[in-house]
Amino acid sequence: MYERILIRYGEISTKGRNRKLFIKKLRENILEVLKDLGNIQINANRDRLHILLRDADADKVIERLKPVFGIQSFSPVVKVDKDIDAMKKAALELMKKTLKRNQTFKVSARRADKSFEYDTNEINYRLGSYILRNTEDLTVDVRNPDININVEVRKEGVYLSNEVIPGATGMPVGTSGKAMLMLSGGIDSPVAGYLTMKRGVDIEAVHFHSPPYTSERAKQKVMDLARKLSVFSGKVRLHIVPFTEIQTVIHGQVPENYTMTSTRRMMLRIADEIRIKNNGLAIVTGESLGQVASQTLESMFAINDITSTPILRPLIAHDKLEIIDIAQKIDTHDISILPYEDCCTIFTPPTPKTKPKKEKVEYYESFVDFDSLIQKAVEGTETLDLGAAEMKAFHDFEDLL
Ligand code: ATP
Ligand code: MG
Repeated sequence: MYERILIRYGEISTKGRNRKLFIKKLRENILEVLKDLGNIQINANRDRLHILLRDADADKVIERLKPVFGIQSFSPVVKVDKDIDAMKKAALELMKKTLKRNQTFKVSARRADKSFEYDTNEINYRLGSYILRNTEDLTVDVRNPDININVEVRKEGVYLSNEVIPGATGMPVGTSGKAMLMLSGGIDSPVAGYLTMKRGVDIEAVHFHSPPYTSERAKQKVMDLARKLSVFSGKVRLHIVPFTEIQTVIHGQVPENYTMTSTRRMMLRIADEIRIKNNGLAIVTGESLGQVASQTLESMFAINDITSTPILRPLIAHDKLEIIDIAQKIDTHDISILPYEDCCTIFTPPTPKTKPKKEKVEYYESFVDFDSLIQKAVEGTETLDLGAAEMKAFHDFEDLL
């Protein structure tokens, strides 16, 4: 029944070139999330973006638009000929589709084409009374209606809509540069990725795995998480780094209570190398202050020392319950709590240092040629592009705001 979907932009506070970039990225991201749904076309202008549905299923398109960042709200639109009877029928059909008990409504007509035989008051009256005659327990309220039917008479036809669906807001992914997300398979890092993407940052995920200590299923789990994040942007690139050798060397060389610190430093060094290769500007982690041994300020100081690249920690001040709450909303929680081993849980010492000293860890590391091990890990990295379009079922993002 719907001919198109009209999209209202989210926070475009900036003008000029930035506005153009916002619209261009939003258009690309929407095309990416909808690409398997049919032969759709997107027309974008300064104030609105129109998705012409053609053969695509409107309900599926609506479901996939809900999580896309950069959309304030959107409305499915019906198009009919400039004929008052066709308009009446379409208006009634729209109302019946969304009707609940005891609602109020109003018709708001606009006429861009002044040659149309009825003026706006007449259109409002004719459509309104037709709806009243053909429905039960609906009343008119012109001041504060539950449902507002917009009717726009244009040269090429008449457009009607009566629903305003809230969008995910935020900024289109890709308008704020690119960062590497250290994605672990736990609860926190997917949430950190989500929050960063909401500010328009394009994310490439980096995951460290240590076969045979970590299983193929653990890798699958991280791929599923990356795919879940792709619904906000269209697709997410995932780099899977072979980390077994480095972890083994650390365990042979570094005193046990410093292995965790050293492991984190090597992860960060590799993530930074991958960032350089892919033109990223920052690294994102799911760290939250005080949560575990590696997340004290002393630890962060000793780990962070290996790079001057900005490290974004969007969860730094969140507590666990808040993080879990977001993880549930974005549908990553149930994947994250699957039990498959993480490379760190296996190698975690019983008593990691909570106040490591950077001079000490540097000294312990100085006996190994980590540069070439890092080089080798970067070269052995497997890169996958994971897309929203491949996902079978979409989560209901109704209360994401
Ligand atoms: P998460 O829930 O994200 O796993 P966590 O509370 O378990 O976090 P840590 O294990 O200390 O905390 O990890 C801190 C951060 O380090 C993670 O949020 C993630 O960004 C990164 N990280 C940890 N393990 C890995 C891994 N195997 N691959 C990539 N990044 C990792
Ligand atoms: Mg973890």
